[in-house]
Amino acid sequence: MTDIREMMKDKKRIVIKIGSSSLQHEQTGDLDYTKLDVLVRELCDLRNQGKDVVLVTSGAIAVGRKAVSLKDAQKDNPIAVKQAYAAIGQARLMMTYQKIFAEYNQVAAQILMTKNTIVDNLNRFNARNTFAELFKLGVIPIVNENDTVATYEIEIGDNDTLSAIVASLVGADLLLLLSDIDGLYTDDPRKNPDARYIEVVEELTEELLGMGKASTGSDAGTGGMNTKLQAAKIAGSMGVDMVIANSKDIKVIHRILSGKKIGTLFLASPDESFDLPLYVQQMHRE
Ligand code: GLU
Repeated sequence: MTDIREMMKDKKRIVIKIGSSSLQHEQTGDLDYTKLDVLVRELCDLRNQGKDVVLVTSGAIAVGRKAVSLKDAQKDNPIAVKQAYAAIGQARLMMTYQKIFAEYNQVAAQILMTKNTIVDNLNRFNARNTFAELFKLGVIPIVNENDTVATYEIEIGDNDTLSAIVASLVGADLLLLLSDIDGLYTDDPRKNPDARYIEVVEELTEELLGMGKASTGSDAGTGGMNTKLQAAKIAGSMGVDMVIANSKDIKVIHRILSGKKIGTLFLASPDESFDLPLYVQQMHRE
Protein backbone atom coordinates (compact mmCIF):
# COMPACT_ATOMS: atom_id res chain seq x y z
CA MET A 1 0.00 0.00 0.00
CA THR A 2 1.34 3.43 -0.84
CA ASP A 3 1.85 5.79 2.06
CA ILE A 4 -0.95 8.30 2.34
CA ARG A 5 1.64 11.05 2.83
CA GLU A 6 3.05 10.44 -0.64
CA MET A 7 0.12 12.38 -2.06
CA MET A 8 1.52 15.52 -0.43
CA LYS A 9 4.08 15.67 -3.22
CA ASP A 10 1.31 16.26 -5.77
CA LYS A 11 -0.31 19.21 -4.03
CA LYS A 12 -0.57 22.11 -6.47
CA ARG A 13 -2.40 24.87 -4.63
CA ILE A 14 -1.51 25.35 -1.00
CA VAL A 15 -2.84 27.74 1.63
CA ILE A 16 -0.49 28.21 4.58
CA LYS A 17 -1.68 29.84 7.78
CA ILE A 18 0.68 31.16 10.41
CA GLY A 19 -0.47 32.46 13.78
CA SER A 20 0.65 35.55 15.68
CA SER A 21 2.42 33.55 18.38
CA SER A 22 4.54 31.85 15.70
CA LEU A 23 5.74 35.19 14.35
CA GLN A 24 6.69 36.88 17.60
CA HIS A 25 9.52 36.45 20.07
CA GLU A 26 7.97 35.00 23.19
CA GLN A 27 9.95 37.23 25.54
CA THR A 28 9.24 40.61 23.90
CA GLY A 29 6.31 40.19 21.53
CA ASP A 30 8.41 41.74 18.75
CA LEU A 31 8.51 40.15 15.30
CA ASP A 32 10.86 37.22 14.87
CA TYR A 33 12.66 38.22 11.66
CA THR A 34 14.55 34.94 11.43
CA LYS A 35 11.29 32.99 11.36
CA LEU A 36 9.70 35.41 8.90
CA ASP A 37 12.70 35.04 6.65
CA VAL A 38 12.52 31.24 6.68
CA LEU A 39 8.76 31.37 6.11
CA VAL A 40 9.09 33.62 3.07
CA ARG A 41 11.93 31.51 1.68
CA GLU A 42 9.84 28.34 2.01
CA LEU A 43 6.88 30.00 0.26
CA CYS A 44 9.04 31.32 -2.57
CA ASP A 45 10.53 27.88 -3.03
CA LEU A 46 7.06 26.38 -3.41
CA ARG A 47 6.37 29.01 -6.07
CA ASN A 48 9.62 28.02 -7.77
CA GLN A 49 8.25 24.47 -7.97
CA GLY A 50 5.29 25.89 -9.92
CA LYS A 51 2.78 25.59 -7.08
CA ASP A 52 0.18 28.25 -6.27
CA VAL A 53 0.69 29.57 -2.77
CA VAL A 54 -1.45 31.68 -0.42
CA LEU A 55 -0.27 32.95 2.96
CA VAL A 56 -2.85 33.67 5.65
CA THR A 57 -1.07 35.63 8.33
CA SER A 58 -2.14 37.07 11.65
CA GLY A 59 -0.09 39.56 13.54
CA ALA A 60 -1.71 42.87 12.60
CA ILE A 61 -3.09 43.57 16.04
CA ALA A 62 -0.02 42.24 17.85
CA VAL A 63 2.36 44.34 15.69
CA GLY A 64 0.18 47.46 16.04
CA ARG A 65 0.06 47.03 19.81
CA LYS A 66 3.85 47.02 19.94
CA ALA A 67 4.11 50.10 17.72
CA VAL A 68 2.12 52.57 19.85
CA SER A 69 1.54 52.89 23.55
CA LEU A 70 -2.02 52.96 24.71
CA LYS A 71 -3.19 55.93 26.78
CA ASP A 72 -5.59 55.24 29.65
CA ALA A 73 -8.30 57.41 28.07
CA GLN A 74 -8.57 55.06 25.12
CA LYS A 75 -9.05 51.93 27.16
CA ASP A 76 -12.81 52.43 27.48
CA ASN A 77 -13.36 51.62 23.80
CA PRO A 78 -11.52 48.33 23.36
CA ILE A 79 -12.98 47.63 19.92
CA ALA A 80 -11.82 50.95 18.50
CA VAL A 81 -8.40 50.42 20.08
CA LYS A 82 -8.12 46.95 18.52
CA GLN A 83 -9.13 48.38 15.15
CA ALA A 84 -6.56 51.14 15.45
CA TYR A 85 -3.87 48.60 16.35
CA ALA A 86 -4.88 46.55 13.31
CA ALA A 87 -4.70 49.60 11.00
CA ILE A 88 -1.20 50.39 12.21
CA GLY A 89 0.00 46.81 12.45
CA GLN A 90 -1.35 45.48 9.14
CA ALA A 91 0.64 48.09 7.19
CA ARG A 92 3.78 47.37 9.20
CA LEU A 93 3.38 43.65 8.83
CA MET A 94 2.96 43.95 5.06
CA MET A 95 5.96 46.25 4.82
CA THR A 96 8.07 43.59 6.51
CA TYR A 97 6.73 40.81 4.29
CA GLN A 98 7.18 42.89 1.13
CA LYS A 99 10.79 43.59 2.00
CA ILE A 100 11.63 39.92 2.47
CA PHE A 101 9.64 38.75 -0.57
CA ALA A 102 11.49 41.36 -2.65
CA GLU A 103 14.80 39.76 -1.61
CA TYR A 104 13.62 36.63 -3.39
CA ASN A 105 12.25 38.58 -6.37
CA GLN A 106 8.76 37.42 -5.51
CA VAL A 107 5.74 39.69 -5.90
CA ALA A 108 3.23 39.52 -3.06
CA ALA A 109 -0.25 41.04 -2.78
CA GLN A 110 -2.56 41.86 0.10
CA ILE A 111 -6.17 40.67 0.42
CA LEU A 112 -8.17 41.67 3.49
CA MET A 113 -11.48 39.91 4.05
CA THR A 114 -14.55 39.90 6.28
CA LYS A 115 -17.54 37.58 6.49
CA ASN A 116 -19.22 39.75 3.83
CA THR A 117 -16.53 38.81 1.31
CA ILE A 118 -17.98 35.29 1.33
CA VAL A 119 -21.63 35.86 2.16
CA ASP A 120 -22.24 38.54 -0.47
CA ASN A 121 -22.43 36.94 -3.92
CA LEU A 122 -20.79 39.80 -5.80
CA ASN A 123 -17.99 40.21 -3.23
CA ARG A 124 -17.29 36.48 -3.28
CA PHE A 125 -17.24 36.41 -7.07
CA ASN A 126 -14.85 39.36 -7.16
CA ALA A 127 -12.56 37.89 -4.50
CA ARG A 128 -12.36 34.56 -6.34
CA ASN A 129 -11.51 36.35 -9.59
CA THR A 130 -8.78 38.37 -7.89
CA PHE A 131 -7.17 35.24 -6.46
CA ALA A 132 -7.38 33.52 -9.86
CA GLU A 133 -5.70 36.46 -11.56
CA LEU A 134 -2.96 36.65 -8.92
CA PHE A 135 -2.21 32.95 -9.41
CA LYS A 136 -1.93 33.52 -13.17
CA LEU A 137 0.51 36.33 -12.50
CA GLY A 138 2.59 34.11 -10.21
CA VAL A 139 1.92 36.40 -7.25
CA ILE A 140 1.59 35.20 -3.64
CA PRO A 141 -1.57 36.61 -2.01
CA ILE A 142 -1.16 37.48 1.67
CA VAL A 143 -4.50 37.33 3.44
CA ASN A 144 -5.75 38.57 6.79
CA GLU A 145 -9.09 39.51 8.24
CA ASN A 146 -9.90 43.18 7.69
CA ASP A 147 -9.69 43.82 11.41
CA THR A 148 -10.02 47.60 11.03
CA VAL A 149 -13.66 47.27 9.98
CA ALA A 150 -14.65 43.78 11.12
CA THR A 151 -16.72 43.99 14.29
CA TYR A 152 -19.02 41.31 15.65
CA GLU A 153 -21.63 41.26 12.86
CA ILE A 154 -19.17 40.76 10.03
CA GLU A 155 -16.09 39.26 11.66
CA ILE A 156 -14.85 35.76 11.01
CA GLY A 157 -12.93 36.14 14.24
CA ASP A 158 -9.95 33.84 13.89
CA ASN A 159 -7.49 33.03 11.17
CA ASP A 160 -7.84 29.23 11.39
CA THR A 161 -11.41 29.59 10.13
CA LEU A 162 -10.41 32.34 7.71
CA SER A 163 -7.71 30.15 6.16
CA ALA A 164 -10.17 27.25 5.69
CA ILE A 165 -12.59 29.64 4.00
CA VAL A 166 -9.82 30.95 1.74
CA ALA A 167 -8.69 27.40 0.89
CA SER A 168 -12.28 26.54 -0.06
CA LEU A 169 -12.77 29.73 -2.06
CA VAL A 170 -9.65 29.27 -4.17
CA GLY A 171 -10.09 25.49 -4.60
CA ALA A 172 -6.83 24.66 -2.82
CA ASP A 173 -5.81 21.03 -2.44
CA LEU A 174 -4.02 21.54 0.88
CA LEU A 175 -4.42 23.78 3.92
CA LEU A 176 -1.43 23.86 6.24
CA LEU A 177 -1.99 25.34 9.70
CA LEU A 178 1.25 26.27 11.43
CA SER A 179 0.75 26.74 15.12
CA ASP A 180 2.38 26.28 18.53
CA ILE A 181 1.16 22.68 18.80
CA ASP A 182 2.46 19.50 17.15
CA GLY A 183 -0.96 18.37 15.97
CA LEU A 184 -4.05 16.74 17.39
CA TYR A 185 -3.94 14.74 20.63
CA THR A 186 -6.64 12.67 22.31
CA ASP A 187 -6.48 15.23 25.15
CA ASP A 188 -4.56 18.40 26.03
CA PRO A 189 -0.91 17.18 26.26
CA ARG A 190 -0.01 20.18 28.43
CA LYS A 191 -2.37 18.87 31.11
CA ASN A 192 -2.66 15.14 30.52
CA PRO A 193 0.59 13.10 30.18
CA ASP A 194 -1.43 10.17 28.78
CA ALA A 195 -2.69 12.20 25.84
CA ARG A 196 -2.05 10.29 22.60
CA TYR A 197 -0.91 11.95 19.39
CA ILE A 198 -3.12 11.37 16.33
CA GLU A 199 -1.22 11.14 13.05
CA VAL A 200 -4.11 10.90 10.58
CA VAL A 201 -7.76 11.78 10.98
CA GLU A 202 -9.77 9.94 8.37
CA GLU A 203 -13.13 11.05 9.62
CA LEU A 204 -13.96 14.13 11.60
CA THR A 205 -16.45 12.67 14.07
CA GLU A 206 -18.70 14.62 16.44
CA GLU A 207 -16.56 13.18 19.25
CA LEU A 208 -13.42 14.80 17.79
CA LEU A 209 -15.19 18.10 17.17
CA GLY A 210 -16.40 18.05 20.77
CA MET A 211 -12.84 17.47 22.05
CA GLY A 212 -11.68 20.77 20.62
CA LYS A 213 -14.23 22.76 22.58
CA ALA A 214 -12.46 21.96 25.83
CA SER A 215 -9.09 23.32 24.67
CA THR A 216 -7.66 26.83 24.64
CA GLY A 217 -5.02 28.50 22.52
CA SER A 218 -2.02 30.70 23.21
CA ASP A 219 -2.22 34.32 24.36
CA ALA A 220 -1.29 35.96 21.09
CA GLY A 221 -3.73 34.46 18.61
CA THR A 222 -7.43 33.79 18.65
CA GLY A 223 -7.39 30.12 17.70
CA GLY A 224 -7.26 27.08 19.97
CA MET A 225 -7.90 23.47 18.97
CA ASN A 226 -11.59 24.22 18.54
CA THR A 227 -11.05 26.69 15.69
CA LYS A 228 -8.58 24.25 14.09
CA LEU A 229 -11.15 21.46 14.11
CA GLN A 230 -13.77 23.85 12.73
CA ALA A 231 -11.27 24.71 9.99
CA ALA A 232 -10.87 20.98 9.28
CA LYS A 233 -14.62 20.67 8.99
CA ILE A 234 -14.92 23.52 6.46
CA ALA A 235 -11.85 22.51 4.46
CA GLY A 236 -12.71 18.80 4.53
CA SER A 237 -16.31 19.37 3.44
CA MET A 238 -15.02 21.44 0.54
CA GLY A 239 -12.54 18.71 -0.46
CA VAL A 240 -9.38 20.28 0.96
CA ASP A 241 -6.95 18.10 2.96
CA MET A 242 -5.50 19.81 6.01
CA VAL A 243 -2.35 19.44 8.12
CA ILE A 244 -1.73 20.97 11.55
CA ALA A 245 1.96 21.22 12.40
CA ASN A 246 4.25 22.98 14.81
CA SER A 247 5.79 26.24 13.61
CA LYS A 248 8.83 25.93 15.95
CA ASP A 249 10.73 24.98 12.84
CA ILE A 250 9.17 26.65 9.79
CA LYS A 251 11.12 24.31 7.52
CA VAL A 252 8.47 21.67 8.24
CA ILE A 253 6.65 23.21 5.25
CA HIS A 254 8.87 21.57 2.64
CA ARG A 255 9.24 18.41 4.72
CA ILE A 256 5.48 17.96 4.90
CA LEU A 257 5.15 18.60 1.18
CA SER A 258 7.82 16.03 0.46
CA GLY A 259 5.69 13.39 2.22
CA LYS A 260 7.27 13.27 5.70
CA LYS A 261 5.01 12.19 8.55
CA ILE A 262 4.90 15.52 10.36
CA GLY A 263 1.83 16.97 12.07
CA THR A 264 -1.73 15.66 11.98
CA LEU A 265 -3.22 15.06 8.55
CA PHE A 266 -6.98 15.51 8.21
CA LEU A 267 -8.22 13.77 5.10
CA ALA A 268 -10.97 15.61 3.28
CA SER A 269 -14.40 14.05 2.97
CA PRO A 270 -16.13 16.25 0.39
CA ASP A 271 -19.76 16.99 1.16
CA GLU A 272 -21.84 18.03 -1.87
CA SER A 273 -24.47 19.57 0.36
CA PHE A 274 -22.02 21.88 2.16
CA ASP A 275 -22.94 25.48 1.29
CA LEU A 276 -19.94 27.70 2.09
CA PRO A 277 -21.68 31.13 1.97
CA LEU A 278 -24.58 29.83 4.05
CA TYR A 279 -22.22 28.19 6.55
CA VAL A 280 -20.20 31.41 6.91
CA GLN A 281 -23.37 33.48 7.29
CA GLN A 282 -24.53 31.28 10.16
CA MET A 283 -21.18 31.18 11.94
CA HIS A 284 -20.95 33.05 15.22
CA ARG A 285 -18.18 33.33 17.77
CA GLU A 286 -18.75 31.71 21.13
N1 GLU B 1 -6.55 38.80 12.37
C1 GLU B 1 -5.88 38.94 13.64
C2 GLU B 1 -4.56 39.70 13.46
O1 GLU B 1 -4.03 39.78 12.40
C3 GLU B 1 -5.55 37.63 14.30
C4 GLU B 1 -6.59 36.58 14.35
C5 GLU B 1 -6.00 35.24 14.84
O2 GLU B 1 -4.92 35.23 15.43
O3 GLU B 1 -6.61 34.20 14.63
O4 GLU B 1 -4.01 40.20 14.39
